[in-house]
Amino acid sequence: MNVIMMGPPGAGKGTQAERLARQYGIPKISTGDILREAVHDGTDLGRQAKAIMARGDLLSDEVMIGIVRERLDRADAQAGFILDGFPRTVKQAQVLDEMMTGRGPFIVIDFEVPDEELIRRLRLRRECSRCGAGAAFEEDGAGAEAQAESCRRCGGPLVPRSDDNDESVRERLIVYQRERGPLVEYYRGRPTFHVINGAQHPNRVTHEVSLAFANGARHPGTWRDAGAARGTVS
Ligand code: AMP
Repeated sequence: MNVIMMGPPGAGKGTQAERLARQYGIPKISTGDILREAVHDGTDLGRQAKAIMARGDLLSDEVMIGIVRERLDRADAQAGFILDGFPRTVKQAQVLDEMMTGRGPFIVIDFEVPDEELIRRLRLRRECSRCGAGAAFEEDGAGAEAQAESCRRCGGPLVPRSDDNDESVRERLIVYQRERGPLVEYYRGRPTFHVINGAQHPNRVTHEVSLAFANGARHPGTWRDAGAARGTVS
């Protein structure tokens, strides 16, 4: 199963991708995580990405396509993958279609969440300052959201993500709104395109994503015919 998760920052793509990757035994490939790791490690890519990410802009299509092409070529992605944060532009989506030739169908899930809820979530979001792992919210006994006090992976201290400051969040939401329309237009006619209300309880969202998976499995290959009919797949 190949899955693309679209949605604004804070929509819960990462959380859902993580859960489903575990459930289906396929890798979660987050372009944001790959870039953050590069920044953390101080590689050439990381140096290039740091300032762009801090101001909430997008890296170039060329760089992002190179990263994803290399990642999808690895052995662990051959049986399927969940892409989180790519494609973000129509150019990236077009090249992804080319990369998918011969790899079977993919489903596209678009999470919708109102801006006020995104801003609320991003203000609360934390990551580990030592290993960079994201800290998911957990439920306390009463079913309310509770933030862990330290990293579940390495025990390190949790801090806000550096690009979750108000200015960068505003910019990322603007950039997302600008790119989303053409991307949705690109995918909308495919039977495996699903819009899911990401403002619901995370467990409900996971349930709806699983239904979309099941639906995608029932329609292997149909997206390609639909795309070809609309002249979007060569
Ligand atoms: P994310 O964790 O998906 O919110 O991504 C964090 C940041 O990484 C974004 O604000 C962009 O600066 C950059 N980024 C991640 N994925 C892409 C992409 N597909 N195209 C361009 N920039 C990206």
